[in-house]
Amino acid sequence: MLLNNKKIAIVGGGPGGLTLARLLQLNGATVNVYERDMNKDARVQGTTLDLHEESGLKALRQAKLLDAFKKNYRPGADKMIIVNEHAQVFFSDHEGKPQEDFGSEHFRPEIDRGPLRKMLLESLQPDTVVWNSQFVSMQKQNDGWLLHFKNETSAYADIVIGADGANSKIRPYLTPIKPFYTGISGILTVDGIHHPETKAPRIDKLLNGGKIMAFGGGKCITVASKGNGGLAFYVSYKVEESNLKKINFSDKTQLLAWFKKDFPEWSSIWLELFENTETTFTVIPIYCMPLDQTWQTLSNLTMLGDAAHLMPPFAGEGVNMAMLDALELSDCLCSGKFRDIQTAIASYENQMRKRAAEAAQESLENGDKIHSKEALDKMLAFFNGL
Ligand SMILES: Cc1cc2nc3c(=O)[nH]c(=O)nc-3n(C[C@H](O)[C@H](O)[C@H](O)COP(=O)(O)OP(=O)(O)OC[C@H]3O[C@@H](n4cnc5c(N)ncnc54)[C@H](O)[C@@H]3O)c2cc1C
Repeated sequence: MLLNNKKIAIVGGGPGGLTLARLLQLNGATVNVYERDMNKDARVQGTTLDLHEESGLKALRQAKLLDAFKKNYRPGADKMIIVNEHAQVFFSDHEGKPQEDFGSEHFRPEIDRGPLRKMLLESLQPDTVVWNSQFVSMQKQNDGWLLHFKNETSAYADIVIGADGANSKIRPYLTPIKPFYTGISGILTVDGIHHPETKAPRIDKLLNGGKIMAFGGGKCITVASKGNGGLAFYVSYKVEESNLKKINFSDKTQLLAWFKKDFPEWSSIWLELFENTETTFTVIPIYCMPLDQTWQTLSNLTMLGDAAHLMPPFAGEGVNMAMLDALELSDCLCSGKFRDIQTAIASYENQMRKRAAEAAQESLENGDKIHSKEALDKMLAFFNGL
């Protein structure tokens, strides 16, 4: 195998990096994951993710983790209602959704980010993940790289894989190409509301263990139930990036004033969310990598997931692409089909860029649709199959 006697460093222990570590270990490779979090419980994990048959689930099947996934996913969490800014319901699939199961092309089971990460971590050999390892720089050493971390430790690897997400610090070693702002920003709370039945009863009733998508005036609020009984949500709309920098979203008075000013058409029912959220909000300007990006393949460095092809979250493809990247990269490196590592990486990168560009295009188009004045009609047509 091409990876015999090679030390592999995956930087970033998100879904993409951990799936790759698992797949490489199944093939007998020597792998470490360097993750900046202090430990596995250091960070509250956000909303649910739906995995797709042809990508995320395909990677899990190959990683022999489908049974573990079945124990951790949340049946029913994919049920959805579509409402307007006054919370009037226009679409619901809570009653009439066709029964689908694993193996069906349209089945998109939801899993919370926390259990997905836990499941992937538990599948790895002990001490695979080196916590508290925030990558800061690296330099060439022999045929590989010497990586340096913020905690002043260093590690050598023959091959480095950047799986360190949207603000990747590995990416500049491959390409100077930067993502562009899509004109849309999200205001997000990952921990949301712990007891929505008392803190946000009207929203909780609508939510009913699934998801709400609300559209009005070119703006969108997405609410999702969490496995712990709580809810998380994010607001997204077209806005100048600089306008949001002026607001302190941790200050409840500023938060409520911002919502009332920028969402004047929205009914007071939505204030339940902002008044009762227990943690702070994060502003996420939505960026996307250029769709025609390319770079020269190296023999000892590549990247996957958001690090390689950050895209807006409006087609639900980000995590699925990251996990499919992991599958395709491990296949290229371990299948024996390629004469050397550089050729294997080149094959992976070519197909990954093409596939990710198609998903990014769909995500950009959905972003435009969701944040248009006619969003409600367009989304109803989509969900009604018109
Ligand atoms: C609001 C929102 C909603 C979304 N909804 C969906 C959805 O419904 N469906 C979907 O498919 N996708 C969704 N996404 C996108 C999805 O979250 C990402 O595409 C996915 O998490 C990418 O996985 P990844 O492993 O590439 O990167 P990440 O999940 O970002 O993981 C990167 C890891 O690297 C670590 N790291 C970062 N920097 C360093 C460093 N310097 N050194 C060491 N470690 C580092 C981080 O701590 C993290 O653990 C959403 C994104 C947002 C913002």
